[in-house]
Amino acid sequence: MTLGPRASARENEGIVMKKEYLHAGNASSPEQNDSYEFLEEKPTKNDPFQVKKELPLEIIGITLEFLDGWSLIACTLVNKQWYRLTHEQKLWQNICLKQWPLLKFQSLPQLPGAPDYDIIRLYRGSWRQCFILQHGLNQQAGLSVTIPNFAEAPKTRIKSETFNINEHSFCLWIFPKGIRQEDSNGVISAYLVLTDLEKRPSQWLTCAVFTLTIHHTSDPKKNITWNSSLHDNRFEPSLYNWGVHSLTDLKTLTNKECGYLDNQGSLKLSVRVRLLSITVQLFFESDFQRNKGRGLTSTKASVTLELPFCTTFEELQQVVAKHVPQGLRFSLWSFGRTNINGQPFRPQKLLQPLPSTVQRRPLFGNQLVDGIDIDAYSCCSIFVDTHAMENEFIFIKVYDTATKQLDYIGRVLLSACQTPQSLQIQLQFYVGDQSSGIYTFVEDIAPVLCSKILPLNYSFKASDIVIVVPMLSGNGNGINENQAEVLVYDYLHVWMQDIYEQAKVLYSDLLICPTLHDIETLAETLDIPRFRIHSAYRKCKGDPSQTLKFFMEGRHLGFICDSCGDTDFRGPRYNCCTCRDFDLCSSCYELSKDVDHRYASVNGTWKRVTEFDGHSKNHSMRKLLSVFHEGYHTSS
Ligand SMILES: [Zn+2]
Ligand SMILES: [Zn+2]
Repeated sequence: MTLGPRASARENEGIVMKKEYLHAGNASSPEQNDSYEFLEEKPTKNDPFQVKKELPLEIIGITLEFLDGWSLIACTLVNKQWYRLTHEQKLWQNICLKQWPLLKFQSLPQLPGAPDYDIIRLYRGSWRQCFILQHGLNQQAGLSVTIPNFAEAPKTRIKSETFNINEHSFCLWIFPKGIRQEDSNGVISAYLVLTDLEKRPSQWLTCAVFTLTIHHTSDPKKNITWNSSLHDNRFEPSLYNWGVHSLTDLKTLTNKECGYLDNQGSLKLSVRVRLLSITVQLFFESDFQRNKGRGLTSTKASVTLELPFCTTFEELQQVVAKHVPQGLRFSLWSFGRTNINGQPFRPQKLLQPLPSTVQRRPLFGNQLVDGIDIDAYSCCSIFVDTHAMENEFIFIKVYDTATKQLDYIGRVLLSACQTPQSLQIQLQFYVGDQSSGIYTFVEDIAPVLCSKILPLNYSFKASDIVIVVPMLSGNGNGINENQAEVLVYDYLHVWMQDIYEQAKVLYSDLLICPTLHDIETLAETLDIPRFRIHSAYRKCKGDPSQTLKFFMEGRHLGFICDSCGDTDFRGPRYNCCTCRDFDLCSSCYELSKDVDHRYASVNGTWKRVTEFDGHSKNHSMRKLLSVFHEGYHTSS
């Protein structure tokens, strides 16, 4: 066992020490070996804690493995060293899995393309958090049923024991010879049923996905599995049970050769159920006014709601109505994703009632978002427009030369303001009658935070966030084009630097162990989608601190160089203006050659594909810097 450098000698270099600790921590990950490797600490004169003087830290680390969760939490308070030792993920993982073995099956059941409801996400990246919340967020459970002497099983219904997820109580109904007359003796039917109907309010609604499995006696690959579909997840008074009329045919099951019956002739069936909900953040115009910086929504939403996953538009309207003054009409807009349209996260799509024939259809998926970010299935933002506008608009921010702030002043209809020229006329009230005019910019995604000054005949697009700088400052001095650009760029630069500082604090403070959730939140302010952070997180072997470091290193998260195949690369990224979605790293760009292949994601892994028209060195390329590149955070 190799010991790290003496920690006490490095107390003033927090960030260095932390890296070494992380290295030591990695040694305990299962891929490498199971032993712990901890830093040794030199005892200091005034140290009141006697045990530490006598015991090397690795012994303490091993001792901690024998404690229960609550004792471990008590040990957290001893000192910084113990704080870190008692936050070791592995310790908490063992405790949680021992106490709640079901957590092992967190990944089941999954919907195709549905969010990653893994343990890390539910508990904000922390097994310790999972323990503290006492499994309160557990959204899933399961049950196994064994039917003895299956070949001779009765035609009647077999009812399983009940099992609970939070306040919901479920059971399985199994019809060993099928439920329908015509199925008689041909198939097995199975249903998931809610059992506590009499206790429920009249309009109850529960959302869940579930998996029914008939187990093979020796080969799990031959298990017969049935998954509920995205549209089958709504349990309500008229449809309190869900299932399948013919799970499989009896010939297969009763044939001894097929291996579904054990030596005693019993058949094993199981069900796994996961409840689903969707987190809806409601933004109001006042939230945009509070936001200082780029975009519209870096401030927290006014209202966060946890709704059943299969909420319909009408149900959403009813819930939102409780948060606006009574009787006030409002319209609802969902937010557009940024990685395609190049602009910050902003309201873009009017939500409208569906035709009456499909009114009961849930809102999830494409209706709430553009459907390109799978996270959006479980989390979405809604703009509640209390002016009830139903036509496209643009968002206006004005640079106040006195306060040196960008202030959100409201929206104007796109039809009334299609160019900077017409906007200039509309805005005379704000920028003063004597003003000789305005400079306009549109906001962009990080790291390109803003456009150049727009020509007067530029055509605005719906939901553009337009920055306006008056040509005359408050004290009557003129502002030229260069000065206007400097004012806006400097303002946004400072904002960017703030975010970097937040990341740095999160990374270097030894008393804060950053969680995946912290990094997601930080990335969200830069409009970096969660799945990008998740893939970096996987790359960093599930270590949040390393993920944060990876992120801060100035990488193009989620991008691949289409020439050499390097992913998440550093340095400038060159994006082709001719080929769609074609990027080069800086060394490939400097080689300046024609490329007849590109990389595409095939079943989640990058593959080199040649069905591609080819990129020529003559194509013009845009140079894009990464978030947190040199210059944003190194210059003053
Ligand atoms: Zn390359
Ligand atoms: Zn090209």
